[in-house]
Amino acid sequence: MKKNITVLNGDGIGPEIVREAVKVLDRVAEKYGHGFVYTYVDIGGCSIDKYGVPITDEGMKKCKEADSVLLGAVGGPKWDSCPAEIRPEKALLAVRKELGLFANLRPTKLFSQLSNASPLKESVISKGIDLMIVRELTGGVYFGKKELKTVNGEEVATDIMPYSVHEIERIGRVAFESAMKRNKKLASVDKANVLETSRLWRKTMHRLAFEYPDVEYSDILVDNTAMQLIKNPTQFDVIVTENMFGDILSDEASMLTGSIGMMPSASLSDGKLGMYEPIHGSAPDIAGMNIANPIGTVMSVAMMLRYSFDMKDEADDIENAVNKVLDSGYRTADIMQEGLIKVSTDKMGDLIASEI
Ligand code: NAD
Repeated sequence: MKKNITVLNGDGIGPEIVREAVKVLDRVAEKYGHGFVYTYVDIGGCSIDKYGVPITDEGMKKCKEADSVLLGAVGGPKWDSCPAEIRPEKALLAVRKELGLFANLRPTKLFSQLSNASPLKESVISKGIDLMIVRELTGGVYFGKKELKTVNGEEVATDIMPYSVHEIERIGRVAFESAMKRNKKLASVDKANVLETSRLWRKTMHRLAFEYPDVEYSDILVDNTAMQLIKNPTQFDVIVTENMFGDILSDEASMLTGSIGMMPSASLSDGKLGMYEPIHGSAPDIAGMNIANPIGTVMSVAMMLRYSFDMKDEADDIENAVNKVLDSGYRTADIMQEGLIKVSTDKMGDLIASEI
């Protein structure tokens, strides 16, 4: 099968981790007789440096024309003072919006080999952690109207958080369907005691819940969720929430697994087109050092094969390869523990590819 993949390396550790994911994809192509064709497009700070914008129109077109998009990460201190309209993150939000990527799936799974790397006590994680965060990605406060003005000589900033019923309903359906394929348990996270958007969110979710009587549905406030994720993470199976809450909670949840470098994500539209990326940022503190963990990006391409290309065996093959490498005791610096074998970013990629 031939597939066109637009690759957005981005900034910081982006090029290092994406290179390893492409290495793994190439090995899959070789083994299964597929043809993955890569088109590289600059995004984020590197694009600002070259073209003065975080993504060019031509680059955006290449994302839209692709069968799938692979992203590293964008941003870094060098571009922190750029005007809001051309900040690196602007490109990311634009790609999500233009491609209609409204559903962000963030599986949070503790690899049994890494249970010692989780900061939680053995008694809390002994049942294993395997949950799915479904985050709404193209609505809410990140996309609402923003304003900075001066009132009575003082600067006043406003960010508006809009949500419409159809936006809530379509992410709700993704979450209920996801729950049906897993353990039929869904927690919807909101702040309905304070926010109007959350009250609409809750009302819409309740209506959907009637359509999915087999799913054990519950509402939970976001502040309580933040606490419960640490206190008793195994109570959750699928969590659905709006854009900003999902952003924050999934970073928190990532630490349950030992390192943010382990966590993949898929951003999906109504169709098959998706963007796949690790959940972490560009990690400027370790960029260029060949020590970043590429597993989150590698697991993201496994999601690409599963969700966009319907290549289940190939996706399983990648996930099994990661397991075998961890079983053999290889670790990047972020998940390193005494007595195990510390490897660089590219060595980790080589090891995973060689297990396929
Ligand atoms: P970050 O996720 O980049 O880093 C947080 C910490 O985790 C750092 O200590 C970093 O070294 C570590 N880390 C992250 N990924 C790792 C990996 N693969 N292996 C080992 N360690 C890893 O978050 P930050 O420092 O808050 O943000 C840095 C930049 O990234 C900022 O400019 C931010 O805007 C941007 N950012 C981009 C995205 C994205 O592109 N999707 C997401 C979040 C943040």
